[in-house]
Amino acid sequence: MLLEVKNLGVYYYTLSGVVRGAENVSFSVKEGEWITFVGESGSGKSTVAHAVINLVPSPGKVVTGEVIFQGKNLLAMKPEELRRIRGKEISMVFQDPMTSLDPLRKVGDQIIEAMTVHGVDEDEARKRAKELLEKVNLPADRLDYYPHQLSGGQRQRISIAIAMAFNPKLLIADEPTTALDVIVQDAIMDLIDEMKAEGTSIYFVTHDISLAAERSDRIAVMYAGKLVEIGTTEQIIENPLHPYTRALVESVPDLWKESEVRAIPGYPPDLRNPPSGCRFHPRCAVFREKGELRGLCDVKEPEPVEVEPGHLVACHLYGGAGNE
Ligand code: SF4
Repeated sequence: MLLEVKNLGVYYYTLSGVVRGAENVSFSVKEGEWITFVGESGSGKSTVAHAVINLVPSPGKVVTGEVIFQGKNLLAMKPEELRRIRGKEISMVFQDPMTSLDPLRKVGDQIIEAMTVHGVDEDEARKRAKELLEKVNLPADRLDYYPHQLSGGQRQRISIAIAMAFNPKLLIADEPTTALDVIVQDAIMDLIDEMKAEGTSIYFVTHDISLAAERSDRIAVMYAGKLVEIGTTEQIIENPLHPYTRALVESVPDLWKESEVRAIPGYPPDLRNPPSGCRFHPRCAVFREKGELRGLCDVKEPEPVEVEPGHLVACHLYGGAGNE
């Protein structure tokens, strides 16, 4: 197993209270697979992605758990040791490349520096930077451009070029296509697919379950800081079990059929004071319809249950230890 996340919890200590950004999150990523985390904003999907690489922004803090990458706990590593892994064995691509690119420096210098900090000779890094640009379908003269001289899609290609520099074992891509139009989005997804073809495992984060369905081997669904369902793409799309996952799948319009697109009523909860029991219960249609679930879903938190090999769901409808 390339990555194992066990019982991860992240809290944000804000002036208005403690935000329980993620709790009891456990999953693994295999060598060479593409796993996508899906959920609305505030579901904790980006929080978990940042925690995996020990980059939770202040005032956030990892409060529980372990992140085992190639046998070592990243959360227990010294900063120098982590720096050696970040950018070399684990790369990250963010939604807004301007957050990772320095606006005052030419992109070529930034690609070269990403390699020289890991000990690559400058001439070698310059040569590799040109190859990387070619790989992400940008002309070599873009090395002399500043980030603001490039379009959003070109900047994202630069971020991916940097991420590709060392053929990392794992790429964490946090909503990398959200701000892009669909044509550019597809081109960026193709580049990420190329990284996967070269052996990189992909940890992708999106709010768009249809995007997740296109390329992922597995999908993990998060709601209100909890991992509520995980399985193969086929299991999640063809047989979604958790009422929230079902609602997400039903919220995708089908261009070829006259089907009813259903929005999910209500809003994600305030994680300073999340709902008791199952955090989805105030929005759950099944809970509203089935009177017998009162006193259970609104009181007791469901534990994840493996309903078929590799398909886990945390919902009282599926029984299991702690759920009856
Ligand atoms: Fe709905 Fe209950 Fe399942 Fe939560 S545990 S999703 S409230 S049925």
